[in-house]
Amino acid sequence: MKRFSASKTILVAGGAGFVGSHLCDQLLQQGHRVICVDNFLTGSAANVRALQNHPAFRLIEADICKPLDPGEAIDQIYNLACPASPPHYQADPIRTMMISVVGTSNLLNLAERHDATFLQASTSEVYGDPEQHPQQEDYWGHVNCTGPRACYDEGKRAAETLCFDMLRLGRVDARVVRIFNTYGPRMSPSDGRIVSNLIVQALKGEPLTIYGSGEQTRSFCFVSDLVAGLIRLMNVDPNPGMPVNIGNPGEFTINELADLVLEMTGSNSAIVHHPLPVDDPQRRRPDISRARAVLGWEPTLSLADGLAMTIPWFAEALNLSLPKTATRRRAAQPSLVAAASL
Ligand code: NAD
Ligand code: UDP
Repeated sequence: MKRFSASKTILVAGGAGFVGSHLCDQLLQQGHRVICVDNFLTGSAANVRALQNHPAFRLIEADICKPLDPGEAIDQIYNLACPASPPHYQADPIRTMMISVVGTSNLLNLAERHDATFLQASTSEVYGDPEQHPQQEDYWGHVNCTGPRACYDEGKRAAETLCFDMLRLGRVDARVVRIFNTYGPRMSPSDGRIVSNLIVQALKGEPLTIYGSGEQTRSFCFVSDLVAGLIRLMNVDPNPGMPVNIGNPGEFTINELADLVLEMTGSNSAIVHHPLPVDDPQRRRPDISRARAVLGWEPTLSLADGLAMTIPWFAEALNLSLPKTATRRRAAQPSLVAAASL
């Protein structure tokens, strides 16, 4: 029997990570009780330290690959527990695959026992190196199942399969969000993803590392926009019964991103090119028509606006000062947002 109450008990697996900690913040602000489950594989206790004394917050250090029962009624489960940066998820690829398959299965079983609504954090990586552009949810993807990214891509695809089977069987009210590249404060400086790498390198005056030509593209979403989309998908009634892309359709080459970071940090760092990783997707941009129609959601912040909130956070976290030449840009140049439909 579902409990009907404005204030819910919500379990956030991976809640001490970059996205998860922002989600915990937001859910607590909305008046919910939050149980954060994390084994600190890539996240950190520091991300939720400010919440530790909150009366509605509970932290459980646990691995989702092992059966878990928090011993209290749960209304909703967000599954964000999985390493997300390519260097992290490739460091122990078999573990990554098991986290998506065994871990998601454990949490789905927990959701079934509690009659809790379940939201799985999937990824644009399920589209692989896409042959359709922009990517719509109906596209089945182009993934190399034997390559070095497969532990993440195929693990997330299998996790989606588990969710939709549980939904079809009437066992769990499962929802699936496909998250596109997201950035913001609390990304680990050693995370290895492009936004954190470039900002840290620029602030330290080290060369900016660009893999391949830098002409590959990504679409970058600020974390608060993503969190708003996650909460909408968890609560929308009825369950859309289909995966939903959440991301910012503004599309940038990695070279354009590097130029913007150099300008906004006022850095004189050089640029060095490294080989392009195997199976690195060449183009990525979400089609967010479904999120607009089903959730009434779209992102609100441009890349420049999001970077203006992210760069000072990294400067403080690394105890580095921003040069006087650093700029606060209100919006990206029209050429940089030409691909955006915002
Ligand atoms: P992150 O690495 O900062 O967070 C992942 C969290 O999960 C960490 O706190 C980590 O310690 C925890 N975790 C990992 N394995 C665990 C396990 N077995 N048991 C318990 N906790 C575990 O990454 P993020 O960027 O915050 O990503 C959160 C989720 O969103 C991930 O599932 C990721 O695949 C998905 N996602 C993120 C992005 C993005 O751009 N940030 C894009 C697509 C999908
Ligand atoms: N990349 C780069 N330099 C870096 C890190 C990443 O050029 O220091 C490139 C990477 O090859 C990819 C893009 O930036 O083309 C985005 O990489 P990221 O690891 O952030 O996420 P992905 O979307 O590939 O999972």
